[in-house]
Amino acid sequence: MKFKIGYFYPEQLNLYGDNGNVEILVYRAKKRGIDVEVALVDLGTNLEENRFNLVFMGGGPDSSQKEVYEDLLKDKGPYLKDYINSGGFGLYICGAYQLLGKYYKSADGSILEGLGVFDLYTEHFGNKKPRCIGNVVCELSDEFRHKEVFNSLNKIGSTLVGFENHGGRTYLGEKMLPLGKVITGYGNNSEDGYEGVLYKNSIGTYLHGPVLSKNPHLADYLIAGSLGLDRLESLDDSLILSAHIASKKLRQ
Ligand code: GLN
Repeated sequence: MKFKIGYFYPEQLNLYGDNGNVEILVYRAKKRGIDVEVALVDLGTNLEENRFNLVFMGGGPDSSQKEVYEDLLKDKGPYLKDYINSGGFGLYICGAYQLLGKYYKSADGSILEGLGVFDLYTEHFGNKKPRCIGNVVCELSDEFRHKEVFNSLNKIGSTLVGFENHGGRTYLGEKMLPLGKVITGYGNNSEDGYEGVLYKNSIGTYLHGPVLSKNPHLADYLIAGSLGLDRLESLDDSLILSAHIASKKLRQ
């Protein structure tokens, strides 16, 4: 068995150490004796040959989003849309999360068309609204917590912790499920109390950190789920668990 991770736009979409998520997935998979390959997918990559178990895209400032969004729409888009709609596993952080929605209105008012695979849109209000910056704690949605794979692996609980830094505010379409409910922080838009999106086996979230560093339950869910496994050998996560618990007490 090989765990093949497609890391999209690593040069442009890799903010606040988001590439650490890929390192964590690789580390935790290798600890279980799983053979891992990370395929870097960049502007010039031809995707026809690639078949991934998991796709990862990180955050990026508006300028980086502008660099990649046309390639995402025209070149990688059809593949990625099909991958996500047919249940492919994926983790999409902040700038990437925004680009998978219908559109992103950036800080300077220009509109970047999104892939539209998630029914949501994002608007940056420039100086009219403050950036959403700080520590985040959220309670995972029932839909996520009840996923069988997650349940069988989860030893951390029902929270996710991380750090957010975004100007864009994301609004989910009526039928879209959020990933969780904000306990501390701004989340999607600082108004409706939701954080992220859960669409089939894809997760969009504003959490950096990198998010998988303090949320091993999410990391293992992604590894096991994307490989079709219902169990993984447990690792000594005592240190990470302490970090997770300590993070829950951090102020915004
Ligand atoms: N440029 C986007 C925003 O500020 C995304 C930032 C990010 O990926 N952290 O909303």
